[in-house]
Amino acid sequence: MKFQPVIGLEVHVQLLTDSKIFCGCSTRFGAEPNSQTCPVCLGLPGALPVLNRRVVEFAVKAGLATNCSISHRSVFARKNYFYPDLPKGYQISQFEEPICLKGWLDIQVNGTAKRIGITRIHMEEDAGKLVHGELPGLDDGSGVDLNRACTPLLEIVSEPDLRTADEAVAYLKQLHRIVTWLGICDGNMEEGSFRCDANVSVMPVGADKLGTRAEIKNVNSFRFVKQAIEHEIERQIDLIEDGGTVVQETRLFDPNTGRTRSMRGKEEAHDYRYFPDPDLVPLVIDDEWVRRAQDELPELPEQRQRRFISEYGVSEYDAEVLTATRSLAEYYEGCVALHGNGKAVSNWVMGELTRALNDSGLSIDQCPVTPRLLAELVKLIDSGTISGKIAKTVFDEMWRSGREPGAIVEEQGLVQVSDSGAIEAIIDGILAANQGQVEEYRGGKEKVFGFFVGQVMRASKGKANPALVNELLLNKLKG
Ligand code: ADP
Ligand code: MG
Ligand code: ZN
Repeated sequence: MKFQPVIGLEVHVQLLTDSKIFCGCSTRFGAEPNSQTCPVCLGLPGALPVLNRRVVEFAVKAGLATNCSISHRSVFARKNYFYPDLPKGYQISQFEEPICLKGWLDIQVNGTAKRIGITRIHMEEDAGKLVHGELPGLDDGSGVDLNRACTPLLEIVSEPDLRTADEAVAYLKQLHRIVTWLGICDGNMEEGSFRCDANVSVMPVGADKLGTRAEIKNVNSFRFVKQAIEHEIERQIDLIEDGGTVVQETRLFDPNTGRTRSMRGKEEAHDYRYFPDPDLVPLVIDDEWVRRAQDELPELPEQRQRRFISEYGVSEYDAEVLTATRSLAEYYEGCVALHGNGKAVSNWVMGELTRALNDSGLSIDQCPVTPRLLAELVKLIDSGTISGKIAKTVFDEMWRSGREPGAIVEEQGLVQVSDSGAIEAIIDGILAANQGQVEEYRGGKEKVFGFFVGQVMRASKGKANPALVNELLLNKLKG
């Protein structure tokens, strides 16, 4: 029997607000434990939550950017469960009436486009954190840090439309690009700002009913998502083929073994005794608010990607890389605005600039070479002032010093030599010194040509105009 895997993702996105969702405490990461708490997020009796307006604005943006409809009315609900990191004994979330419904995202896998449905997006508060091991005043033990309690999250739930681990990763990357692009999430997966639960099931090919799903909790890197899903698919198929049945449960992925293991039986929604939170009135969003949010929405990464292809003639792949982040796309376009040739600029941004960023570990926002400097550099190549090869040397110097490329070229005497007399003189010298190779070339061994080009370029310290070198060299060798 052949099996068809089915995957649906629940993604938790931590929002980049300064304060928490229902109180004024700071959301800053890494502070002293329990230093960012108040009666509301500590769950003290009598404290009342007040909704952070910014959270709603961010949720609406996320909804619009993922083609959802925005609910005019949504309701906060209490999700009841007991855990030491949840002081109220319930989490404020949304259940029957979430803020966004029925959206979709387009993904590309191996050149094939696919539309993935988004079931819903809701707002909720995060829980605190348990800390195990050495604690202040205790040799060893477990403590609760409630700094994270009540920080704002969006949960974005996909339809079970994904069929492979690669599709799941493509969807996640697309979603990650959108929420960071909108500036509503820092996207830091290591710190848990963007984390995913992967629901996985398998069914016989052609079946019309989905199989029982296992949910893999809190996977926090793209690579782990792929590994976890692939392993889980294999585990379920093996289990069924051995005559077993998949049970609905929550599993954990262990990056050290590359396997998933059972954590607990899966709760059903009714186990949580959801009910509307009486401390919070229903949230009403009018048309005017949605229209304003729509107007303020930036051009989204996919639109920009498509525009780069049509406007600047770059390839699909290049356009995707250039729109990986909003800062990079802005850098690129800033540069094109000053230079004019989108292809030429793209080669430099995708090539030298990306390499230098990777080598230095800097982000594009910290890049010492401004779009204007890069545009100037490419202009120097266009005008024939320097060769493409010398331009790389100039680029490295710009990277180090942030100085004007023109000044560097002048100071270091890097101007390209396009004077045929001067180049001919060099060629004559090289040919005279390498008579053996000249004979070989004339005897039909054309490969030696590259050797001569290299020698001439070296003798000119890389400054000879390469096209001219080729032309003159060919004439001399033939002659
Ligand atoms: P819960 O919080 O109980 O996990 P949600 O409705 O929030 O429920 O999320 C369920 C997720 O599981 C969705 O992403 C959905 O697409 C996915 N899903 C539902 N049924 C299946 C299935 N049979 N196989 C794989 N994924 C599924
Ligand atoms: Mg779930
Ligand atoms: Zn607080």
